[in-house]
Amino acid sequence: MNEFRPIPKQYFDQAFALTYYSEVLWQKSFVDGNGGNLSMRLDEDLFMITPTLHSKSGLNEADLVVIDGSGNQIYGSKRASSELHAHLAIYKQRPEIGGVVHSHPPYTCSYAFTDSVPTVPLSAESAIWMGELVLAPYNTPGSTEISEQIASMSRGRNVLVLQNHGLMTWGKTLEEAYWRTEVVEAHCKIYHMMESRGAKPRHFTYKQMTQLNDLRSRFLKND
Ligand SMILES: [Zn+2]
Repeated sequence: MNEFRPIPKQYFDQAFALTYYSEVLWQKSFVDGNGGNLSMRLDEDLFMITPTLHSKSGLNEADLVVIDGSGNQIYGSKRASSELHAHLAIYKQRPEIGGVVHSHPPYTCSYAFTDSVPTVPLSAESAIWMGELVLAPYNTPGSTEISEQIASMSRGRNVLVLQNHGLMTWGKTLEEAYWRTEVVEAHCKIYHMMESRGAKPRHFTYKQMTQLNDLRSRFLKND
C-alpha cells in the first residue's frame, strides 16, 4: 500500500454522510457482522468507500478509504471493502450515479436465498423507487464475475437482489440509494406477510402503472 495519506477536510461532509448511513443500516439490522458496504462518488474518477472487515456501526472519517476508478487507494489508512469492484462497476456503467449501498436486509435475503423474488411493485413507493425487482444469479462475492454481472444488470435499473447474498441499490445521491434499500426491504417484508396468510396481491392496472411511471420520470430525471 502507498504511504498513508489522511482524507482531506474538503471531503468531510461526504464522509459524514457515509458514516451516518452506515450507522442507520446497522441500527435497522440491514447488515450483520462486518457485512455490507457503502460508497459515494466524490468526483468523476474518485470514490469514498467503507473499509473491509469493519462493522457498519461506529465508523468515523478516519476509517473510510478514497479510491480511484481502477480501485487504487488514494487516501485513508484502512483497506477498502473487498466488494469495491462491484461498486466501481456501477459507477463506470452509470456516470450519473452518486451513491451505492450494499446490505443484507433479512426479508430481502429471505427471498434472495431462494430461486425467486417478488418482482412486481404493489405500492407507489416501490413503483417509483424500486421498479421491477430482479434476482441476479449467484456469483462469488468480490469476484470479477460478479462485477461484470452487476455492470451489465445495472443498466436501466437501480436495485439488484444478489442470490444467496443480499441487496445492492444505487442512486443519484447516497440518500436516494439508501431509500431504495428501505423500499425494497419493506416490499419484501409486506410480500412475505401476504404470502404467510395466503393473501392474493392486488396489482395496479395498466392505466395506474402508466400514471405511476409518469410520476417516476418526473421524480427521477435521467433514469
Ligand atoms: Zn455482501
